[in-house]
Amino acid sequence: MKDFVADRSKALTPSLTLAVDAKAKAMKAAGEDVCGFGAGEPDFDTPQHIKDAAAAALARGMTKYTPSSGTPELRQAIADKLARKNGIQYKSSQVIVSCGGKHSCFNVVFATCNPGDEVIIPAPYWLSYPEMVKMAGAKPVILPTSDATEFKITPEQLRAAITPRSKLFILNSPSNPTGSVYTRAELEALGRVCIEKGVLILSDEIYEDLIYPGATHHSLASSGPEFYAQTVTVIGFSKAYSMTGWRLGYLAAPEPIAKAIDAIQSHSTSNPTSFAQAGAVAALTGPQDHFKVWLAEFTKRRNYMLQRLNAIPGVTCIDAKGAFYLLPNVSKLGLAPMEFSKQLLEEEKVAVVPGEAFGTDRHVRLSYASSMTNIEKGLDRIERFCRKRA
Ligand SMILES: *Cc1c(COP(=O)(O)O)cnc(C)c1O
Repeated sequence: MKDFVADRSKALTPSLTLAVDAKAKAMKAAGEDVCGFGAGEPDFDTPQHIKDAAAAALARGMTKYTPSSGTPELRQAIADKLARKNGIQYKSSQVIVSCGGKHSCFNVVFATCNPGDEVIIPAPYWLSYPEMVKMAGAKPVILPTSDATEFKITPEQLRAAITPRSKLFILNSPSNPTGSVYTRAELEALGRVCIEKGVLILSDEIYEDLIYPGATHHSLASSGPEFYAQTVTVIGFSKAYSMTGWRLGYLAAPEPIAKAIDAIQSHSTSNPTSFAQAGAVAALTGPQDHFKVWLAEFTKRRNYMLQRLNAIPGVTCIDAKGAFYLLPNVSKLGLAPMEFSKQLLEEEKVAVVPGEAFGTDRHVRLSYASSMTNIEKGLDRIERFCRKRA
């Protein structure tokens, strides 16, 4: 048969995590007692008042198209929230609501990158970034980091990677998969390099609310007009409000970029789901008490896991203060992450995500978006597995 598949699809890397994940799911389905550390979403339910607002919107007939970049109410509520909480002033016309933060990131890359442009991405990275860049015909330029710098890149490293083709720098703090949080000073130092060299910054701040004692979140666009002019801020509802299935995220950008993305979205997805947007308004304007409860629970799990992991011979894990992931270094055990994950699943029935998926051959990712019972049992098994190999 004639090959109908476009080159841009062929350039995509099939998900490396799929093999391990599929096996874990099959084992679970077969009734095996699998401990999962793979979760990429909070294990809490969406707060009730948010669900009620969406249900009420549905009941009163909010079932039609909305403006393609979101309802005026939601765009205004987001602009108000960005001013109040992030310290950044945007007009509602600069805010675009998309079908998830992932879609917002895709829109930014698609709207700003020409074929052949270079996009700088620190590793370990969120696995979708390089693939989005390739889909746009641009070229991912990966900057490796290590435990020694808490997986953070330095301004010198960034400067050395910039060429005349560099268009975009993707910054994710707090980070998935490393959990690292850049300080305000670190962010601004990187931002100044981008300003000097004329590189746009995509600041993915989807984990802004998941920050543990000792760290604070800073939005780079709030650092001053020169930062604001060269930063696109991406946030969403999935992580902070446990709304992963609702598919709602947003970005705020300088006017010309927002306009370009508005046009792209109007000819591709059109608006995100109408009544889901009504729920999102309630998320931003209603009570925020759930954060306290969730953060207390995440903090407890994080501290426990960190202490257990670092007590395992041959394993080290940095004290990452954001998101809900830890990225232990298992390289001393002599197994590549993929092999480590396969053997761990077969031998001890524990599912972790191999680092190869995120651009590291020394780490595995463990999520703590799961119950304490699962975490305790899973760590007992991981410890037994590693002790045999240390
Ligand atoms: C979860 C996540 C997103 C966005 O998720 P959506 O469900 O599409 O809103 C964006 N960036 C990172 C790094 C994430 O982990």
